[in-house]
Amino acid sequence: MLQDSLKEWFGFDTFKPGQEEIINHVLNHTNTLGILPTGSGKSLCYQLPTYINQQPTLIISPLISLMDDQVMQLKLHGERHVCCIHSGMDENERTQNIQQINQSRFIFLSPEFLLQKHNFKLFQHLNIGLIVLDEAHCLSEWGYDFRPHYALVGKIVNHFKKATVLALTATAPSYLTEDLEHMLDQSFHIVKTTMNRNNIALAHKNFANDDEKLAWLLPKLTHSGSTIIYVSSKKMCLYLAQQIYNYGFLTGIYHGDLSYQERHTVQHQFINNEIPIIVATSAFGMGINKKDIRTIIHFHLSTSPSNYMQEIGRAGRDGAQSQAISLYQPDDSYLLETLLFTDIVTTEDVTAFELGEFLPPDKNEIIKTLHSYYSITQLHHIFKTAYKRKQLGYIRMLGYKNLDQCRRAYMIEFFNENLLEKPEQCCDNDSELIEINILNRKKVKRKMNFNEKIQNLFK
Ligand code: ADP
Ligand code: MG
Repeated sequence: MLQDSLKEWFGFDTFKPGQEEIINHVLNHTNTLGILPTGSGKSLCYQLPTYINQQPTLIISPLISLMDDQVMQLKLHGERHVCCIHSGMDENERTQNIQQINQSRFIFLSPEFLLQKHNFKLFQHLNIGLIVLDEAHCLSEWGYDFRPHYALVGKIVNHFKKATVLALTATAPSYLTEDLEHMLDQSFHIVKTTMNRNNIALAHKNFANDDEKLAWLLPKLTHSGSTIIYVSSKKMCLYLAQQIYNYGFLTGIYHGDLSYQERHTVQHQFINNEIPIIVATSAFGMGINKKDIRTIIHFHLSTSPSNYMQEIGRAGRDGAQSQAISLYQPDDSYLLETLLFTDIVTTEDVTAFELGEFLPPDKNEIIKTLHSYYSITQLHHIFKTAYKRKQLGYIRMLGYKNLDQCRRAYMIEFFNENLLEKPEQCCDNDSELIEINILNRKKVKRKMNFNEKIQNLFK
């Protein structure tokens, strides 16, 4: 029985909702899309079938931090047959991992790495039983955007014809299934529980400008527990972190321009509660296995409901009461529009590409990569659709700031889900929310030395 295998391999007595159904489908070689909320045990859905079938599993993963975390979890669990190759590794580590490939049960790779011909040669002979698309929403979110290799995973799946595909995510917009089936040219069975996380209370506040936002935010941080503050630019990331630091809290920053080592360090300090607050762009969070994050603040709105649900989903993985508060001031919409619509590939760009006209190198590269798999007609359709989706998501987020109905219902309706039961701490439109009251330690003032004390006397 499946339950016995669960006990044998993981020591758990019961499955979490959705797990058993997904695993049964995978064991029956049915391609499956599993939509289960953050922290609900999605990894086990591929780990258990791997142990049962005794065939290697290929896990396609979007981020280094996510791969590192999963590898660490597996190793902690006593699994030695794991390998992972990514750009954050030094030459030594990379060579060691390449040597491990043939003995590995779990192989973690990014689509960019795998799709390079000389890399693919390292894997093509393997008898892969299961291909996992972890954080599968990335296919829709990024495949037609700055990570076109995501839209080419069909090439990998086509090569391993006998392998079953398991796509896993916490947030699936209705078009994800369509994209998956299109990109992989295969059909998928969907197992969905809910995207709703009842232990995260939702609130939103409107302000006249950033100074007002800041004046509200700083005192709030005194008792917000472990907190992530999302901002939409690196500049704001630095500015805000400085303000919070000046106010008295140790604060980390995290954005895409930091080195792998810097990101790694700040992430660990946050996970180990050495710093209570982190100010980050959307680059932060996926794969951060910290269970006691209590507060997520969006200093700027997210660009889509999908991103918003992902980002707030990082709170309260331990099940305890948590909160997600978004802030807005009128200039923000300009910022969001710039972020969303500047530099995106349009159907005009596809035409220019077809005619061999000049295109900025980034755009050219994206279209060229996709054109290795999709026709020009398909590309026109793809970018038209991608634009419409961005617009739809953006409008939904703008609606959130003026909402007078239940925020939770509004959010999950976007994903074709109805709210069946409201938690007591639902949202600020439904009831007065109780404050999270977990004090954040202020930074310790360094003791002055003798000379400084003397100088201070005469200031
Ligand atoms: P997700 O990918 O859905 O965010 P993870 O796979 O990281 O979640 O799992 C979250 C936690 O749940 C892990 O600590 C894992 O060990 C635990 N877990 C998974 N399945 C079960 C289960 N059946 N019973 C108890 N704990 C489980
Ligand atoms: Mg996961």
